Amino acid sequence: MADDCLFCRIIDKKIPSKKVYEDGLVYAFEDINPQAPVHVLVVPKKHIPTVNDIKQEDSQYIMAMLSAAKKIAKDRGVSEKGYRAVFNVNADAGQTVFHLHLHVLGGRILSWPPG
Ligand code: AMP
Ligand code: ZN
Repeated sequence: MADDCLFCRIIDKKIPSKKVYEDGLVYAFEDINPQAPVHVLVVPKKHIPTVNDIKQEDSQYIMAMLSAAKKIAKDRGVSEKGYRAVFNVNADAGQTVFHLHLHVLGGRILSWPPG
């Protein structure tokens, strides 16, 4: 884990967060600036900066992130209505925190294409 990384510090409980879900591979918490009634971030318990840095050996983390997203969507009642699971990658997509995170957004109509 990286001491200078916000999400590593959140995983290590050095910075507070509103926990939604946790297991051995991932941690999920409420986004501090929610863009929808449901806006949860799912992060791997390994410092991976972006999607571009994912390696084959990380596959267990990626599967765990998607499984957590699926569970959270179900728990929040948006599974059948619909939700979005999004990775922003680098500057043009608006990535601001360089620890991999899956946004789970739902609870309202989400427009397409995104802005
Ligand atoms: P991205 O723009 O894809 O890098 O997303 C980063 C997300 O992290 C944004 O939606 C922020 O609102 C969120 N965020 C930043 N700091 C915190 C924090 N301390 N706790 C929870 N969410 C945060
Ligand atoms: Zn990190």
